[in-house]
Amino acid sequence: MVRVRFAPSPTGPLHMGGVRTALYNYLFAKKHGGQFILRIEDTDQTRYVPGAEDYIQKSMEWCGITPDEGPVAGGEYGPYRQSERKAMYRQYADKLIESGHAYYAFDTSEELEDMRERAKKSGFPNWQYNSITRDRMKNSLTLPSAEVSKRLEAGDPYVIRIKLPREEEVKFEDIVRGWVSVNTRNMDDKVLFKSDGMPTYHLANIVDDHTMKITHVIRGEEWLPSAPLHVLLYRYLGWEDTMPQFAHLPLLLKPDGNGKLSKRDGDRLGFPVFPLQWTTAEGDVYSGYKENGYFPEAFVNMLAFLGWNPGTEQEIFSMRALVDAFDLKKVNKAGARFDFEKTKWFNQQYLRMQDNASLATSLATSLEGENISLGQDKLIHLIPLLKERAVFVNDMHRDALDILRAPEEFDEKSVQKRYKGDAGEVLAAFAQELESQSPENADDFDHVLKAFIEARGIGFGKIGPGLRLALTGSMAGPSLPDIMFVIGAEETVARIHRFQEKFPL
Ligand code: GLU
Repeated sequence: MVRVRFAPSPTGPLHMGGVRTALYNYLFAKKHGGQFILRIEDTDQTRYVPGAEDYIQKSMEWCGITPDEGPVAGGEYGPYRQSERKAMYRQYADKLIESGHAYYAFDTSEELEDMRERAKKSGFPNWQYNSITRDRMKNSLTLPSAEVSKRLEAGDPYVIRIKLPREEEVKFEDIVRGWVSVNTRNMDDKVLFKSDGMPTYHLANIVDDHTMKITHVIRGEEWLPSAPLHVLLYRYLGWEDTMPQFAHLPLLLKPDGNGKLSKRDGDRLGFPVFPLQWTTAEGDVYSGYKENGYFPEAFVNMLAFLGWNPGTEQEIFSMRALVDAFDLKKVNKAGARFDFEKTKWFNQQYLRMQDNASLATSLATSLEGENISLGQDKLIHLIPLLKERAVFVNDMHRDALDILRAPEEFDEKSVQKRYKGDAGEVLAAFAQELESQSPENADDFDHVLKAFIEARGIGFGKIGPGLRLALTGSMAGPSLPDIMFVIGAEETVARIHRFQEKFPL
């Protein structure tokens, strides 16, 4: 049974890279009929941000990435917040000490700082607590055992560190990256248990993945350097047989490909990096895809393609279709460049797929807010015209208002260029024609216009530009019969008159 987890730390809002990690975990679980677990990794109390966990839950909900187990969903492997699992970690740190794979370290932060400074001065800027330097530090490997006991009994502060072998090749096969091999000589003796009685990420993560029976660890590439340590922890705790398989996902890159797209990019690059809007404790507001009018399905579809593709031409995938098509082995190694234009394109595709009747209902509500009421036939007629040009539902609402409200401003350049000679006389005659015929449906308007052109033996250019400018103020927009039908014959005539008063010919 496949069991995967998404394990965010509630240190702030989840950015879209985090959502992609959650999504890939979800897709993989569902593809294999497995379980998707949400685990909140909140062991670092100093980085805890109120509201972040709630934000994570809400973002996943909006995206339709629903955990089978988690702090809200519950489940038999809970609790699903590490702070609530605090009591269970210590025994594993003790076990590692007993088996000689971990030790107590009493060095104060001042002593460590001092050590780093001295190393820097002698030309070693990257001092680490490791298999070589630990011999000169204050720990249970160097101090006499009587002193170690005395310090422990006296309650002296200490941390527990992993004891790495000096030279050993640690190897594992990553589903995305293939074989990864790191020598322990390039690793350090990481802290597993802190003086505040909390485990560090490394210990808690391994203990939880093991006790929650996680089969695959799918996470961002930034965790790749920690993976060899995790492999050793599985080994030292005697859990190697059930060690999960790793899959490290490629980084999300800024649109120019220069560096990682980070939370700090906020709206700086001209697009949101968060699924939902987030307000910081200082009152700074970061925009979200949801509030910017994106469909969650479009956002998810776009994210799925940041680092994966099905190997076919197909780009539009529902969640269900993604589940069927997803394959971890097809995830790219190379960083995935974020493309904002493509994101808008996805939204446009999803907008086009929306049901016209429900878009008509939402348009009616938004028009009501502007005190405009439109018959159902006109609403339904308008929707496909608006859809054609829009990326967001709001664009449709804006364009609808542009049509329904008489123009106040006119593109004067076009008026000068396109409305001249006998165009005024032609336009006035057309208004008269409308008054006498009072067409009602869109086809009627089309007939009246065509018959008028034919009867007068003129080209469309004699009437088209003037009429369009009179109705909309500009040269853009849907076809003239469509506009006339939606606003009605009476309003069409009124707009022509107003236009002719303003621009007499
Ligand atoms: N808590 C880690 C994070 O915030 C989880 C890393 C992992 O999935 O192991 O990304």
